[in-house]
Amino acid sequence: MRLETLAIHAGGEYDPATGAVTPPIHLATTFRHGPAAERIAGYEYQREGNPTNDRLRAAVAALEGAATAITCASGMAAITVLLESLRPGARILIPDDCYAGLRLLAVEFLPERGAQVVRLDMTDLPAVTAACQGGVDLIWVETPSNPMMKVSDIAALAELAHAHGALLVADNTFASPVLQQPLALGADIVMHSTTKYFGGHSDVLGGALAFAREDDFARAVAHRLHITGATLAPFSAWLTLRGCRSLPARMALHCANAKALAEFLTAQPQVEAVHYPGLASHPAHALAMRQMRQGGGMLSVQLKGGREAALGVAGALRIFTNATSLGGCESLVEHRASVEGPQPVTPQNLLRVSVGLEHIDDLIADFAQALKA
Ligand code: PLP
Repeated sequence: MRLETLAIHAGGEYDPATGAVTPPIHLATTFRHGPAAERIAGYEYQREGNPTNDRLRAAVAALEGAATAITCASGMAAITVLLESLRPGARILIPDDCYAGLRLLAVEFLPERGAQVVRLDMTDLPAVTAACQGGVDLIWVETPSNPMMKVSDIAALAELAHAHGALLVADNTFASPVLQQPLALGADIVMHSTTKYFGGHSDVLGGALAFAREDDFARAVAHRLHITGATLAPFSAWLTLRGCRSLPARMALHCANAKALAEFLTAQPQVEAVHYPGLASHPAHALAMRQMRQGGGMLSVQLKGGREAALGVAGALRIFTNATSLGGCESLVEHRASVEGPQPVTPQNLLRVSVGLEHIDDLIADFAQALKA
């Protein structure tokens, strides 16, 4: 089955009990069992598993081509349960440009477990190769990266990780499985903030991990999630499952709108740089087009005139809402350095843009007026 068909049918099967065409939501926290805790229908307690969550897990696994998947209360919960499942003292390589939450987790909390975290440019393969010489348990790649839209070579990093006995984990939030399937390129685990494109409507928080193999490590992560409790609530699972159905159709329009806006911005005199993998001017455009189907719905733009110019444009936009997050129907803009905490790493003149599903002429007209304001 092709991805568009899987997105609708994987986990979305009609309800055998009633024939309802769309999945029911099972809100029960506990499930009837026999006198000696014999399971009757396979479930025991919601934190461990419930039918609505299982449907979403099946959908995520099918879309990523995974052997198994788990769903968590947020993307950060997924990242945390995964990294805390590594041995104490593990050596972890993370990208210099990545979601700020991963960076903060790596700086503030992982060292408490004795983890050694090395931050480096994942597009610089000789640097990653050199970093592996000190031993490595896990390489984390986020491609395209947040917010600089760097594109890293998943297949090459997987080869490198495996040569050193390490796992390669890919945060596939920006691309979604519609545009990129890291497991097919050799990654071992895919991570998603399903809060973004999977949910698709800025109304549900969630995270997922999709595993290439249902092995001891995958089982250990699922067990840790069950015991530590950052489970996805059934209503959230249901909303996310609903998002899956339209994911391929939404991604097509996100990509078309983002590419047209990126092309428009590139031609504006107030613009210093546009970062979008779908543009031929992107330094890794050829790689992006090899490992992604299209350039995606995210871009970032650096304005001439520094922080003031960037804040001026962000403040003048009318259709793009100033807000964090991404992947919803509505277009958002964010001065990323302002939300990164006390030590921002993103350039002050950069705006991150989540290009929504509005008419492209309206989006371009909005930027045109904001750039002149
Ligand atoms: N990964 C990426 C690329 C993100 O953009 C985000 C959130 O913005 C996360 C992970 C964390 O996900 P959540 O906010 O669902 O915890």
